[in-house]
Amino acid sequence: MLEISEISVFYGDIQVVFGLSLRVGEGEIVTLIGSNGAGKSTIVNTISGILRPSKGEILYRGKSIARVPAHRLVEQGLVQVPEGRMLFTDLTVEENLRLGSFSKSSRKHFPARLRYVFQLFPILAERRRQTVNTMSGGEQQMLAIGRGLMTDPDCLILDEPSEGLAPLIIQQVWEIIEKLKEEGHTILLVEQNVALALKLV
Ligand code: ATP
Repeated sequence: MLEISEISVFYGDIQVVFGLSLRVGEGEIVTLIGSNGAGKSTIVNTISGILRPSKGEILYRGKSIARVPAHRLVEQGLVQVPEGRMLFTDLTVEENLRLGSFSKSSRKHFPARLRYVFQLFPILAERRRQTVNTMSGGEQQMLAIGRGLMTDPDCLILDEPSEGLAPLIIQQVWEIIEKLKEEGHTILLVEQNVALALKLV
C-alpha cells in the first residue's frame, strides 16, 4: 500500500530525515516510533504531500506520489490525522466532519459517512452541534479521527493519537483503532510511547 525508499527531508539547509525506508502492506498496521523532535511529523507530512523529499521515493499503491499535491492524495484515500488534532475549534462537531468530506469525490457520501462516524463514536452524535473548543481532549481526538474517516480512506496515518490524553481515554481510542484495523483499514501509527504502540501492532 505504502512503500518509502531512502527518503531524505530538509527544512532549508537542515536535514531532519536521513534515508528512511518503510513499508506498510495492505490491511496492515505498522508503527513508527521516535522521541520528541526525532522527525516523525516531518515524515508524516512528507508522505501526505505537504513537504517534499529531496531524495528517495514514495510509492502509494505502486505509484510515485512524491510530487502529488496533498489534496489529491486525500482523494486517492491517503489521509492523515495530524498531531495536535488541528480541528477548526470555533466550528461545531458536524461542521468539522463536513470539512472532512470536502474532497469532490467524498461530498456526495457525506450522509452515509456521517452515520458511520457517529456509530463509531456515539459521543460525537450527542455533541454534533457543540463547538469544538468546549470539548474535552479525548472527544477532540475522536473528532479528529472521525474527520479523517469521512473520506473513507484506504490508508490512515495517525500522528500521536495518544498525545495529552488520560489512560482511560487512550484505551477507548485504542479500541477504535483496533476496530478500524479489523475493518481492513491500512494504518500507519506514529507514536512516542513504545508500550502503547506495541499493544496494537
Ligand atoms: P514531536 O513528537 O515532538 O512532535 P517529531 O518526531 O514529530 O516530534 P518533527 O516535528 O518532525 O519531530 O521535527 C523534527 C525536527 O525538525 C525538530 O528538530 C524540529 O525542531 C525541526 N522542525 C520541524 N518543523 C520545522 C520547520 N518548519 N522548520 C525548521 N525546522 C523544523
